[in-house]
Amino acid sequence: MLDDLRYPLQAGRCAASAWSGEPDRCRWCDGLARPGEAWCGHRCEDEYRRNHWWDHARQAAAARDGGACVRCGLGPQVRTLARLLLRALIPMGPVEAARLWQGPAWRSFVQACELEVNHVEPRLGRGYQAGCHHHLDGLETLCHRCHVQVTSAQHALGGSRADVAAPAVPPPGEHGA
Ligand SMILES: [Zn+2]
Ligand SMILES: [Zn+2]
Ligand SMILES: [Zn+2]
Repeated sequence: MLDDLRYPLQAGRCAASAWSGEPDRCRWCDGLARPGEAWCGHRCEDEYRRNHWWDHARQAAAARDGGACVRCGLGPQVRTLARLLLRALIPMGPVEAARLWQGPAWRSFVQACELEVNHVEPRLGRGYQAGCHHHLDGLETLCHRCHVQVTSAQHALGGSRADVAAPAVPPPGEHGA
């Protein structure tokens, strides 16, 4: 999975990188790299990872989007707020409260507030391996319902592989079917 540590191997391969191709220059900002290294410092290395490694990119996109769905605003903060509001508005003893938090309505609301990160351009089978298809400006944070709507619209427009609720890291040995 980490076969891309030296990425980009060629200048111009990554639209987000300013690297000129000189070996002693930073692969991200084209400043002077630290001797024997690909980067001028941790900041550029981190920035590179946030734009190419799915785990890093996914977290960076969610942070940039304020931890909420960019289409409808749902997210963990809304869930916390709703919980506080319900506690404030409905007089409940501990038993009733426990029943509410464990009931199907609250559980499905909690599920609706789970966030997923969508590729604005469909991945088209490129999977979750590191690469330029994870550039941050091509990612958006969505709740599950909006993600399903967006990806089915993408498919209707001719996208191919399903992106819906795909696991962030495919199980080892799985090569799609
Ligand atoms: Zn740099
Ligand atoms: Zn949403
Ligand atoms: Zn790139």
